[in-house]
Amino acid sequence: MAEEFDFHPMWESLGMNLADHDMLLGAVGQMYGDMFLTQNNRPKSTSYLDFVATNIHSGRIKEMLDKKEAGEATKIVGSFCVYVPEEIVLACDGIPVGLCSGADWATDKVEEHLPRNTCPLIKSFAGFKLGEVCPYIESSDLVVGENTCDGKKKAYEFFATQKNMYVMDIPNVHDESTLVTWKAEVKKLAAKIEEECGVTITPERLKAAIHAVNGKRRALQRLAATRAADPAPISGLDSLLTVQAAFMDDTPRLTGAINEMAAECEQRVEAGEGVAPKGTKRILYTGTPMAVPNWKLFNLIEKAGGVVVGEESCTGSRYYKDLVDESGETVDEMLDAIAERYFKINCAVFTPNHQRMKDIVQMAKDLHADGIVDVALQFCTLYEMESFAVEKAAEEAGIPFMHITTDYAGEDAGQLQTRIEAFLETI
Ligand code: SF4
Ligand code: SF4
Repeated sequence: MAEEFDFHPMWESLGMNLADHDMLLGAVGQMYGDMFLTQNNRPKSTSYLDFVATNIHSGRIKEMLDKKEAGEATKIVGSFCVYVPEEIVLACDGIPVGLCSGADWATDKVEEHLPRNTCPLIKSFAGFKLGEVCPYIESSDLVVGENTCDGKKKAYEFFATQKNMYVMDIPNVHDESTLVTWKAEVKKLAAKIEEECGVTITPERLKAAIHAVNGKRRALQRLAATRAADPAPISGLDSLLTVQAAFMDDTPRLTGAINEMAAECEQRVEAGEGVAPKGTKRILYTGTPMAVPNWKLFNLIEKAGGVVVGEESCTGSRYYKDLVDESGETVDEMLDAIAERYFKINCAVFTPNHQRMKDIVQMAKDLHADGIVDVALQFCTLYEMESFAVEKAAEEAGIPFMHITTDYAGEDAGQLQTRIEAFLETI
């Protein structure tokens, strides 16, 4: 589709910088080819991921805009965090999209508004906007931010000067009183989305949305479970992309494709077929989310001879491990159930965050990981600070541990590769 159709008029109508955007697409396409298409023994059904990658800035955007024009969708709602409930957007016939922010762009312009020592993820979303190269940002009618880390909450003050924004207040402590506040916050968001989309949320609408998103999360759970096998049936790189795609692609299409991938991986497990040989060193990734096209670390681990078998991260298990209880009958009950489900996400913004440590150790055991690689994006105080607790939990569980601080640039790739190879040799 992307090759046959000229999408430039569409990008132009979104106010994008065509020359810079062509350059970005070229670079990402090259990276995708080098990292994903050079993998051996990929499951055949990963062709869906190639489809997603090919259409990410083109066919998918056209599809969303066409749906709006045809009156099949109301608004496009962007967000940056897995705390923003997509069920509410879907219940209003909106299209939820994750605003990925996984590459450096227009850094000079960004540093006119944000400090240089800001994490790359924040700089990236500001840079994609200032550089006019993200069709998801440009096509979003509303962007929902959230008060998680300090960097994000202050950066949203700047972003709100560029886009129609609404910011949710996320608690920093998990207890009964903050759950009450959080439930009220989810209801405030529902009212905002209703107003924005011009739709009243009915029990039928919300039930259908909860069911659809639960189906997507179940498919991802099913695929993730196959990765406990040795040999692992699918790579960490492809698995990471399934969750990244879940923030962007159409929910029913993605659910169907992930279920197909899971079915193929189940057959591969049965047949003892893997993406890497049996006995390959198995890594559990934990840490900051890896947004498209930040595939650097997974690529390094797997090219160094390891295989990533799980991700304790918002671009991993935190996105799909919990479902919304489907027993609610009224809108109020269902919104409460949504709030309860999202409240279980153990972001490093919470204090204390003991449950995250338990989840990491449990995942490492369930997936038979030989080691844990804990990653913080540069200048991310939360995940840097929490890495000490992760190391302690890994040590107590007797699991080899490695901490990495990195950014989106490729300059540290050689040094990281040496460190990762050394780590894989010791485990
Ligand atoms: S790490 Fe925290 S702030 Fe980032 S997406 Fe996850 S929950 Fe949101
Ligand atoms: S990586 Fe860290 S600093 Fe950056 S947005 Fe996420 S939580 Fe905030």
